[in-house]
Amino acid sequence: MNFLKLNGIYHTYFTKSTATTALSDISLEVEEGEFVSFLGPSGCGKTTLLSIIAGLIKPTEGEILLENEPVSKADDKIGYMLQQDYLFPWKTIEENIFIGLKLMNQLTEEKKNYALHLLKEMGLKGVEKQFPKQLSGGMRQRVALVRTLATEPKLLMLDEPFSALDYQTKLKLEDLVSDTLKSFKKTAILVTHDIGEAIAMSDRVFLLSPRPGKLHKTFFIPKELRELAPFEARNHESYPAVFQTIWKELESLE
Ligand code: ADP
Ligand code: MG
Repeated sequence: MNFLKLNGIYHTYFTKSTATTALSDISLEVEEGEFVSFLGPSGCGKTTLLSIIAGLIKPTEGEILLENEPVSKADDKIGYMLQQDYLFPWKTIEENIFIGLKLMNQLTEEKKNYALHLLKEMGLKGVEKQFPKQLSGGMRQRVALVRTLATEPKLLMLDEPFSALDYQTKLKLEDLVSDTLKSFKKTAILVTHDIGEAIAMSDRVFLLSPRPGKLHKTFFIPKELRELAPFEARNHESYPAVFQTIWKELESLE
């Protein structure tokens, strides 16, 4: 059984006068515990695809099965983390990390303690009563990750979560996120336009071509890189060749 299965997904956005086909004939499978990336140029439909997987948008055609069942709106098996942290500025960090639990009516003492424990794991002990604006961008993204993990989703989707951060913070967070997800054996989908990030973090990379978004090619990341933390993978001798291969494919799309 496949954990996640996308069957012939098509999506067209309609307005009064235009029709934009964002996705065309996307079929793929993700195994439980796997970390995959959707890589592709801006506008190729990555966010649309994630929104469809999350059940937030109904595809024009095709179906999504998560553990053999169609995904539904507000599927609590799925956690979604975005490029911007979307923390509520008027709420404390603690209130922010409890929001998902509250929405799902799961705000028990046990779950609260779990969320606070995650916060500590992310190196954020002591910020509970602070407000988002008192934290740096990297700290806020870590809070957003805690909020997403607090509801214990089976599938985690990360839509360019590091792209608004400075390079050093981004590299550090890649390691932290990778390590955290591995320790919880989470299945994850990362959306990125950064080839290096896709290679360093993933088991497989799905390269999407634009207008309309199609699955152009799938890359299997070699074992020696998969076993390493992202930062180390970037420095491994196998890394440049994989980078070149994917780079050339991306170039050929333009
Ligand atoms: P990506 O995340 O890869 O940058 P998106 O999924 O955001 O791509 O967008 C894919 C295509 O669909 C783009 O051409 C974009 O302009 C179009 N699109 C996205 N959202 C909407 C919408 N709500 N209405 C109309 N067109 C949209
Ligand atoms: Mg996007």
